[in-house]
Amino acid sequence: MKKNQEGELLKSQVKNTELGKEIFEKYMPKKDLNRKAADYMEKHVSVKTISRFETCSSWFQHLTNKEMSVKRLHKTDACGNRFCPICTWKKAKKDTIKISILMEAVKEIEGKEFLFLTLTAPSVSGEELREEIDQFNQAINRLFQRRNVKRVVKGYIRKLEVTTDQEKYVTEELYKRKKDYYDYRGLKVGDPNPTYNTYHPHMHIIVVVNKSYFNMPSEFISKAEWLGMWRSCMKDNSITQVDVKKVRSTKTSNSNAVLEIAKYSAKGNDLYHSEAVFDTFYMALKRRQLIVYSGMMKDYVKKFKDGKLDRFKKENEDEYTHLLQSVWKGSTYGSKLRELTQEEMEMYNERAKFIEEGEDID
Ligand SMILES: [Zn+2]
Repeated sequence: MKKNQEGELLKSQVKNTELGKEIFEKYMPKKDLNRKAADYMEKHVSVKTISRFETCSSWFQHLTNKEMSVKRLHKTDACGNRFCPICTWKKAKKDTIKISILMEAVKEIEGKEFLFLTLTAPSVSGEELREEIDQFNQAINRLFQRRNVKRVVKGYIRKLEVTTDQEKYVTEELYKRKKDYYDYRGLKVGDPNPTYNTYHPHMHIIVVVNKSYFNMPSEFISKAEWLGMWRSCMKDNSITQVDVKKVRSTKTSNSNAVLEIAKYSAKGNDLYHSEAVFDTFYMALKRRQLIVYSGMMKDYVKKFKDGKLDRFKKENEDEYTHLLQSVWKGSTYGSKLRELTQEEMEMYNERAKFIEEGEDID
């Protein structure tokens, strides 16, 4: 049966808005934001795209049990759009698990270690953003083509992130966060904010290196050297910092590196701040590859897809006996619960063998 037919069929059957309420408490704010985003999206895309976008997650099937003490998403009609607050949230949850598994596997099978590298450049105006990102990507490629880098780097995962500063005046929070910057310019809380309405692209990169990288002087690249190379690749000597650390843990819950790579390219508060800000992000990020797997990491993505890394996945111990079917009713979801048939129970539980979604990320 086609996805939409399934949704139509459900609409006539589903009444109860109390059932499964706790599942939807998490979806509701995203669903609300999706409507706001749809208004902003409208002028950029076709009617077909916008209709898929604004009806995203209009119905769900969740696997559960009679008491509804366990829950797992089974089917939905997600739009998959990268500007959709629901879909980006779900993707980030999945990516934490995937990235963590890729790293565990590369560490164990290939005996590698990881660096976490963050590269930035000065802030730019909205008009300059798309071009700035192009330059940024070219500079990254140049950096990884350098002889001494190429020699020690076996692959990477990189993620583009863009933030924006939309405060007209220096707020207390801003001042606390960028004290040195404001002090240097003699600015205090309440003064006009010099970076108001600017955009700040940066790149988080998990870099695969040999274990020996950390103790062989011939392989090791110091922070000062990374900075020097980055300045030269960006052709910008005003860059004052790079951040580079050894990755201590590949587990999702306590690895900053995993979380930074998995999270959204633009935070919700930034992306949906206003229509003008959304338009800037949209024009700068559309049709762009936001997460890039390269070298050994690319090879391992293929293994992951082919099921060859299943032994690194965490088994899901929950058992499902019921199906919760839910439909969007305009302001909330209505649901009904039914028992799975024997055949469904076997098939669905087998399919739900592994944990595929991590914790929420901000
Ligand atoms: Zn969506």
